[in-house]
Amino acid sequence: GFSRYSTATALEEEPIKPAVQVEHTQLLIGGKFVDALSGKTFPTLDPRTGEVIAHVAEGHSEDVDRAVAAARKAFDQGPWPKMTAYERQRILLRAADLLEKHNDELAALETWDNGKPYEQSAQIEIPMLVRLFRYYAGWADKIHGMTVPADGQYHVQTLHEPIGVAGQIIPWNFPLLMFAWKVGPALACGNTIVLKTAEQTPLSALYAAKLFHEAGLPEGVLNMVSGFGPTAGAALASHMDVDKLAFTGSTDTGKVVLELAARSNLKPVTLELGGKSPFIVCEDADVDQAVELAHFALFFNQGQCCCAGSRTYVHERVYDEFVEKAKARALKRIVGDPFKSGIEQGPQIDSEQFEKILKYIRSGVQSGATLETGGDRLGSKGFYVQPTVFSNVEDGMLIAKEEIFGPVQSILKFKDLDEVIERANNTRYGLAAGVFTKNIDTANTLTRALRVGTVWVNCFDTFDAAIPFGGYKMSGQGREKGEYSLKNYLQVKAVVTPLKNPAWL
Ligand code: NAD
Repeated sequence: GFSRYSTATALEEEPIKPAVQVEHTQLLIGGKFVDALSGKTFPTLDPRTGEVIAHVAEGHSEDVDRAVAAARKAFDQGPWPKMTAYERQRILLRAADLLEKHNDELAALETWDNGKPYEQSAQIEIPMLVRLFRYYAGWADKIHGMTVPADGQYHVQTLHEPIGVAGQIIPWNFPLLMFAWKVGPALACGNTIVLKTAEQTPLSALYAAKLFHEAGLPEGVLNMVSGFGPTAGAALASHMDVDKLAFTGSTDTGKVVLELAARSNLKPVTLELGGKSPFIVCEDADVDQAVELAHFALFFNQGQCCCAGSRTYVHERVYDEFVEKAKARALKRIVGDPFKSGIEQGPQIDSEQFEKILKYIRSGVQSGATLETGGDRLGSKGFYVQPTVFSNVEDGMLIAKEEIFGPVQSILKFKDLDEVIERANNTRYGLAAGVFTKNIDTANTLTRALRVGTVWVNCFDTFDAAIPFGGYKMSGQGREKGEYSLKNYLQVKAVVTPLKNPAWL
């Protein structure tokens, strides 16, 4: 019963041609598109076929130097931090308008380079990006310090100033949204930026950055360096003239960049890392709804979400029914060319992730979990993986402990609340959790007990720009989005003035 995917044969057809041209493949430094100094390029691949979409300029440390110099100049001498907040706000709003106008081109580039369903890009992610920039435009003129009472003898004020040059390193799973989470707050606070996209997905953010320049962003404020982690990424993390680093990616790489930052100039670092998020289905849950939401929590974006609900804990009273229905739902999942209408799942990002996922599936089988459905590749080209469901998973198995980052659901059984709290928290990660219950007391107990940065109760993956996001434990440091993200990009200066002959103390 593992071959009932209605679209499996369609995968052998010619891939649909995206309705967009790749216009920008160079580095963006000081407002101009330029080649890498070495002249090197690297190919970016179509995950549907593994074929080359375009060759992209490959930035190295000397290019990072140039980009940081441009960002430094724009910060120290340029108009950006000295502009009125209102002017900066207007540029951000114009950029949001342009992103909205070019919704379909951005969505097509995103899907072509990443493999996610076009309808998801066009109807959910690009509109979210637009809203996010409008949200941060709203903050631009509402950032201010405080007056602090200090012993009555002093007038003390705090100034909230931009930090300076922000280095930002992003992953491939949500190329444009990660660009927005990083760039939005940094620009709203008046910083300048050097951003490194993931080597798998450089195209869409280059296009978005060009639109920011069309919107009037001064040159040197937003610089883009495509390239690889150990070269361009490490150069940025260890740069002496970068004042702040923001990173999203794997926990292992997070440790590397934190160390590079510490060894160079002690730049403050925010980290948004991996997860192994529990999704807890309580005995009172509506099983049909819980199945649907748990399916979404895991399979959304081909399972390539840092916060994926990748440990589905189900109460023993509803367990059998849940497993049966979860399997049926996975079998119905529509996998295929992401440019086709109605597709729920496209290919994984690249051969490395694809192989890694298949290896985890083999490990699940070997460790004795029950393979309910899926378990193999889909089609013969590209990086498609069958929606896979394991039941009878135990906490000690690799598939329950490590981040698979693919369409592989692991279902575990639990008996009572104390037990599931302990097991859910028994991980080095702490990014997110889902809680499915109709009982308010159960919900309150779980939301307080879970050691994670986000708890979604009877929902999952709700990502409004105003909601802070980030991890406990080894899932990260700091929070992105919302008002909380602003402090990542601000310095606080205390200005102390003696009060001479105050009228009152
Ligand atoms: P990664 O952490 O290696 O890559 C993320 C970013 O860091 C990329 O831009 C990459 O070029 C850069 N990078 C890599 N090595 C670097 C270095 N030494 N110095 C500076 N920058 C460096 O992640 P990956 O290899 O793309 O994926 C591996 C795993 O990471 C995935 O399987 C998944 O578990 C996890 N992941 C998590 C997220 C998330 O949002 N938390 C996103 C993508 C991947």
